[in-house]
Amino acid sequence: MAATTYAIAIGSNRYGRHGPPARTVAAAIAVLPGVIAVAPTIASAPLGPSTRRFANTVVLLRVTDDPPMLLRRLKAIERRFGRRATRTWGARILDLDIVLWSAGQWRSRTLTIPHRSFRDRAFVLGPLAAIAGDWRDPSTGLRVRHLAHQVDRPRPRP
Ligand code: AMP
Repeated sequence: MAATTYAIAIGSNRYGRHGPPARTVAAAIAVLPGVIAVAPTIASAPLGPSTRRFANTVVLLRVTDDPPMLLRRLKAIERRFGRRATRTWGARILDLDIVLWSAGQWRSRTLTIPHRSFRDRAFVLGPLAAIAGDWRDPSTGLRVRHLAHQVDRPRPRP
């Protein structure tokens, strides 16, 4: 396949072999194929008595993989970082999601692009807007910049 561009959301909220979440995210970026842009990482310190930290960012990859092939590669990287050992719901050493694809949409039993929930996630839209604000979501026709602005605003009550 000719090279296409993918936006990949990277998240971590649990210590792994690379250390705290921000280190895990940096280590993941170092092993991802075809990285052409990296957004600033959003990182949190633990709040109150909780020790939970998180780190999130988005990168753009330019690769010749079709979507199922790229998903397989991302899952292999997640496994290498130790995701399988995760038992607690929501606690993840590494989570890699395909958010957008320059060739448009993809829908199969195991893979939906654009990612189903990226429009509701400020921790995806913020970093994504920093590197691909002009990218149009093929499902809504709205630019990433617009979606990021929308998710920041309080929603009107029904
Ligand atoms: P989760 O553990 O919530 O990240 O879900 C992972 C599963 O969601 C994967 O095994 C995929 O089969 C499926 N999936 C569907 N759409 C996507 C997408 N755009 N990016 C990554 N995984 C996806």
